[in-house]
Amino acid sequence: MLLLKQKVINEGIVLGQGVLKVDSFLNHQMDPVLMREVGREFSRRFTGEGITKVLTIESSGIAPGIMTALELNVPLIFARKQKSLTLTEDIYVEKVYSFTKKESNEITVSKKFIAPGERVLIVDDFLANGEAAFGLARIVEQAGASVVGIGIVIEKSFQPGNRLLQEAGYRLESLVRIASLEDGVISFVEAEGEVLPE
Ligand code: 5GP
Repeated sequence: MLLLKQKVINEGIVLGQGVLKVDSFLNHQMDPVLMREVGREFSRRFTGEGITKVLTIESSGIAPGIMTALELNVPLIFARKQKSLTLTEDIYVEKVYSFTKKESNEITVSKKFIAPGERVLIVDDFLANGEAAFGLARIVEQAGASVVGIGIVIEKSFQPGNRLLQEAGYRLESLVRIASLEDGVISFVEAEGEVLPE
């Protein structure tokens, strides 16, 4: 997705330890036009799959998730990272190790929002080790629903998440794939025939 790639090139900041900061359009300030295009692209890639829900994790997955859900005309659910005091009904709980915070979080989703047999698309902002995506997939499977696919805005292909998710049999669609952040330089896994706009 060229618009997104251009944004990563122009505004992405490489932090140490394989972390890319994109807080000007995705992780803090959010670019609604770009998010709309992200939603359209995921919707295009997963069209005809009979998706009934989009599932993401708070907070940075919510913008791409809601735009995808809007395009697919289905609800968005976001997994919570903290158990809400008002969440008294039955919940699904999974443990997820956070790559950026270096700590384990319990993520929760209310049982009433995923019914057995539903066809769920998982969307997230980044893919590193696949912890968040696997945690979300386990919740879908606990509910007796199926994971139609996993849509990732920015995949760091030099980390193991891509390989692990594909080995587990999930369909993975990443809009931008980063090959390396070494020496502070962002390099991409080049898609064939792709030419960046001026
Ligand atoms: P994973 O669970 O695949 O190890 O990591 C993905 C999660 O960690 C995403 O939900 C995202 O919030 C966060 N994350 C992982 N790598 C990065 C990164 O390089 N930059 C930012 N901003 N978030 C990241």
